[in-house]
Amino acid sequence: MSLAVDADQQALAESVAAFARKTAPLAQTREHLSDYTAGTMPAEAWTALCEQGLHALHLPATYGGDDCGLATLTVAVEQLSTTLFPGPYLPTVTASALAMAAADAQALLADFGAGMTGAVATGPDLRATRDGDGWVVSGTSDPAIGLPGAERVVVRAAIDGDPEASVWFWLDSVDVVASGTTDPVEVPAVQLTTAEAVDLTRSLGRAAFEAYRVDPARVLGGIDPAVAQLWTTTLAAAEATGICRWCLDTTVDYVRVRHQFGRPIGSFQAVQHKTAFMLVRAEVTSAVTWDAARAESQPAEQRLLAAASAALTALPAAIDQAVDCVSLLGGIGFTWEHDAHLYWRRAIALAATVGGEDAAARELGERCLRAERDFAFVTAETLPALRATVGAVLDEVRTLPDDEIATAGWAPARGAARRARLAAAGLVAPHYPPPYGLGAGPADQAVIAEEFARRDLTQPELGIGGWVLPTLIEHGDDEQRARFVTDTLLGKIIWCQLFSEPGAGSDLAGLSTGARKVDGGWMITGQKVWNSQAVEADWAVCLARTDATVPKHAGLTYFLIPMDADGVDVRPLRQATGIWEFNEVFLDEVFVPDTQVVANPGDGWRIAVTTLSNERLAMGSATFGHGSSTLVRRLLESGDHAGTRDDAVRVLGRNTALELSVAALNLRNAVIRMNGSAVGAGAGDSVRKVWHAIAQRDASRALVSVLGPRAAVGAPEQPYTFDFLGLPAILFGGGTIEIQLDIIARRVLSLPR
Ligand SMILES: Cc1cc2nc3c(=O)[nH]c(=O)nc-3n(C[C@H](O)[C@H](O)[C@H](O)COP(=O)(O)OP(=O)(O)OC[C@H]3O[C@@H](n4cnc5c(N)ncnc54)[C@H](O)[C@@H]3O)c2cc1C
Repeated sequence: MSLAVDADQQALAESVAAFARKTAPLAQTREHLSDYTAGTMPAEAWTALCEQGLHALHLPATYGGDDCGLATLTVAVEQLSTTLFPGPYLPTVTASALAMAAADAQALLADFGAGMTGAVATGPDLRATRDGDGWVVSGTSDPAIGLPGAERVVVRAAIDGDPEASVWFWLDSVDVVASGTTDPVEVPAVQLTTAEAVDLTRSLGRAAFEAYRVDPARVLGGIDPAVAQLWTTTLAAAEATGICRWCLDTTVDYVRVRHQFGRPIGSFQAVQHKTAFMLVRAEVTSAVTWDAARAESQPAEQRLLAAASAALTALPAAIDQAVDCVSLLGGIGFTWEHDAHLYWRRAIALAATVGGEDAAARELGERCLRAERDFAFVTAETLPALRATVGAVLDEVRTLPDDEIATAGWAPARGAARRARLAAAGLVAPHYPPPYGLGAGPADQAVIAEEFARRDLTQPELGIGGWVLPTLIEHGDDEQRARFVTDTLLGKIIWCQLFSEPGAGSDLAGLSTGARKVDGGWMITGQKVWNSQAVEADWAVCLARTDATVPKHAGLTYFLIPMDADGVDVRPLRQATGIWEFNEVFLDEVFVPDTQVVANPGDGWRIAVTTLSNERLAMGSATFGHGSSTLVRRLLESGDHAGTRDDAVRVLGRNTALELSVAALNLRNAVIRMNGSAVGAGAGDSVRKVWHAIAQRDASRALVSVLGPRAAVGAPEQPYTFDFLGLPAILFGGGTIEIQLDIIARRVLSLPR
């Protein structure tokens, strides 16, 4: 999916993509590469772009713009990047956005509104010193995209003696004189050197200032550094998403048709998984870019957090995506004639000009020591009627005795007066359909969660019941729903899931536990394994084979088994963490009446898929646990980290970026659903599951590095390593990473078998 999240943005994306394909097909761009890198591009493409108003989408109407805001502008930037639109679009819209952020840039905005091209020159070497009422600037800028050929240049120079403060001003093309030419005006010239550009579709250059006296009329006052950072980074991240998207599409097209060993290479699992992961990466890049654009209307510290997160996640991702694309294209992808290297080059140049990964990690690490990213997507005014109704119930709940009985492990607390009131009001699982829940969509759920939090109340957990109940609501009969749903919501029934077997894990449909038809029911015999909560559970959902003569998926049946039935033997298993959380369960001639079969014999696989997708959904949306920024921050605050403070801050930055990308993926998914889209027809759950598992894995691993020698010490002195050892629950739950990548490759990307 593109960055567009609603119908208007989608329409803009489609029209910009069509315009770019028609106006600047890549074959045509290739004929003019030397002009683009020199900044002397043919004028037609730029003129056509301005005629479409794309240069001014974000500018105020006074300057011919649409005042569209950052999010909509990113949609256009992404589409132009997907087709590798040549020339200075990115530096121009970045420069004009900075002009918008200034208090007094009318003349400059008029120039940009009229279609002048722009660039932004910055860098640590550019220094401004006070000279009377004005400023004198010396030093050389970092390489700046689009500088050669730019008609207007926005410059930022750090104020000598105050590294946090900057002076912003602008130059016109008369001020900027190419190296070796004579200065045509009286003011000291700014010398421009054109650099050899890695990105062959636009120019790159440095501006050297020697005691340059800034014209006071061209000082851009009042630019908020947070606004500048947000627009600059987010627009670059939008280009990164376009690159990710092109690389994915190109790879998918190629692996479908390229044959080796007598088969399309897209039918090999190694190729499928790499391609499927490219889709995950593209989605993550979109999500963090979308989240950064969302920060436009938020306070300064939020803008800085979101910008640093996008810089750390989206820009390196585009490079990785391009490298994966080239790898999967094989030798052809490494040729000059193939377009892949042009995208790869742009990805490298983008990441380099926005700043290195380490710097972004440090920036985010320092920022998140002071503030947390806000993912609230409803306001106090959202859904006032729901707020009032829920608030009234919760006020009443607070007056009831808090008599919940805690049970072992992570089993939910059992029935209590408070819970009964919540269940009656549909507030235990508000997303369930009435009468069990409120049929709450994402916004309703967010409002309800806020009302719970406001009163310091916790929403009840259902454990495995959380994915059993949606299954019974969808596939069970009236009697089963009446018997199980409400009692589970009340905490009177704890569930376990008897699916996995010693010989059937990922290949669940290959299970061998058998069910034999007897009068009035079934006799079940077999062995299940890795069954969480089986010791505490009252009931189990169980898959067993009822017909061995049909293909394996067709011969399964979904049973409901009381855990105290004759013939059920639960034996706890000790996990790598040292504690007993899962079990093996032996079933020896366990009688299950026909009334405890869900749907019909043979429907088991279809129904189990509902259970597993709800489990996957829960895993993909779970709160970040191991290696979370909270844990790393605690180590930094106590000074108990290994290595230097800077090492630990960068780990904090990287772990926070992983955490924020997971949250952004979830929030964007919720917003798209609210806007009425199906979110990739189920792909969203697998994408989120894969990314959450990988993010958890990498963050946990990084946490161990910050602990240093203390990682070898166990709980209770040091609980973090224990947390890390629990990681497989996230990696395997709802299907392993490999199985999810299989699902994405086959069902979403339709790669050949
Ligand atoms: C903490 C925890 C709690 C659990 N709770 C429950 C529970 O309550 N109920 C229950 O029924 N089960 C439960 N499980 C089991 C879980 O569902 C399985 O572990 C999971 O499905 C994988 O099966 P397996 O362990 O047999 O591994 P296998 O399927 O043997 O897989 C081993 C490795 O091979 C890979 N692999 C397998 N097939 C393929 C393939 N076709 N292509 C590529 N790679 C492949 C896997 O990705 C994995 O990396 C739990 C597991 C854990 C860790």
